[in-house]
Amino acid sequence: MKHSDVLVAGGGPVGLATALLCAAQGLVVTVLEAEAEAAVRAGSRAIFLHGATLRTLGKADLELAQRLSNQGLTWSGKHTLWAGRTVYRKNYPQPRSGMTPPFTSLSQRDLEMELRRACLAAGVRLAWETPVETVTVRPGHVEVGSGHRASFLIGADGARSAVRTAIGTRLTGTRSDASFIVVDLADDPTGPPGERVFHYRHPAAGYRHVLTAPFRGGLRVDLQCRPTDDIAGLTADPAAWVAPLVPSATPVDVTWVSHYRFHQSVADTFVDAGRRVLLAGEAAHLFAPFGARGLNSGIADAAAAAEAVADGLTGTVTRAEAVTRYDTVRRAAALRNRDATAQALHQLLATDLSTRARQRAAATAARCSAAAGAWLDRIPYGPRDAGIPDSPY
Ligand SMILES: Cc1cc2nc3c(=O)[nH]c(=O)nc-3n(C[C@H](O)[C@H](O)[C@H](O)COP(=O)(O)OP(=O)(O)OC[C@H]3O[C@@H](n4cnc5c(N)ncnc54)[C@H](O)[C@@H]3O)c2cc1C
Repeated sequence: MKHSDVLVAGGGPVGLATALLCAAQGLVVTVLEAEAEAAVRAGSRAIFLHGATLRTLGKADLELAQRLSNQGLTWSGKHTLWAGRTVYRKNYPQPRSGMTPPFTSLSQRDLEMELRRACLAAGVRLAWETPVETVTVRPGHVEVGSGHRASFLIGADGARSAVRTAIGTRLTGTRSDASFIVVDLADDPTGPPGERVFHYRHPAAGYRHVLTAPFRGGLRVDLQCRPTDDIAGLTADPAAWVAPLVPSATPVDVTWVSHYRFHQSVADTFVDAGRRVLLAGEAAHLFAPFGARGLNSGIADAAAAAEAVADGLTGTVTRAEAVTRYDTVRRAAALRNRDATAQALHQLLATDLSTRARQRAAATAARCSAAAGAWLDRIPYGPRDAGIPDSPY
């Protein structure tokens, strides 16, 4: 049986970040990933990396944070419209070279490739095609069925987490009927960065909300669907309805289309009873994507999990204290993130008369009030600080 200090189930962005942050603490880490090394995950998925996330990764590997900053785009600004009329617009200064930008925008695939490289350079062992199926917690260690054992197991194996099932906990929450269609368009990778644009009630989209966000090499278009929309029809021919939504001199080139449903769920506990197994990322929580809380909060989990296992192994505090603290802090953060995304969803869906009336009044007031426009610009993402010390996530 192969022994490590820490096993990480799942080689997605959160698992890789966890492994890297553990390795930076001097721990021997093995990542067990179900898929093959060559498997490619399509699409942009999570594109927005917050400055706090870059700083977290930079603590383990400064060059990684710099590469991600350089590879990603910092948008030229943000622009919000109501039924085709500008209600808010702001330009961003381009970040100075060598400084951590306030955020960077790149596809999740590019992030994962960079994290893999950084993990290998840090000595992390990556075991491909090694799904975690069973988890056994013994008095002195934890074993997984694939012949690996360690002092700790961190389950970062995504929304359908086998580790979560093995420790007997589950996600509790809701799934909204509303959803997005996400479309990636190819873009000139060397062109200047564009704006993030949010349209309330886009006239060319049947008055649905539309978000467009550039990332390195592409433009992401999110269409907020109505519960009655024909999702299969819209995803079958996205170019037909996307073209009028984006300024483009050339025909749109669709590289990916996906349908994304809003989940708002948090695991009942993030740790096992024996205090050797911790859950992180989508194994522990699912949020609606506005505000980019899914991936960014997963990397905040990764940092906290690495700290907990390092403290438990070095004896800074007892193992039970370190793991219990992780559960307390990160579950509370997840609940705050869930509440923040619930507030964003409430504004986006605007199913009640008073929310709709407030938004309409703000759109009218934005003709002469910058504050009203700024409010409309802000509300689709939920409160900026979910109240977690040192991190918005
Ligand atoms: C269409 C779409 C759009 C999205 N847009 C956004 C966005 O705009 N902003 C945002 O923040 N987030 C977005 N997300 C969510 C984002 O992709 C997730 O937050 C992120 O992938 C979570 O990372 P993770 O590492 O926790 O889980 P995952 O990325 O799911 O990684 C889990 C890994 O574990 C592996 N695995 C699974 N089971 C096992 C097992 N039993 N043993 C070993 N390995 C296993 C999987 O193969 C995978 O590699 C989007 C997702 C989708 C699908």
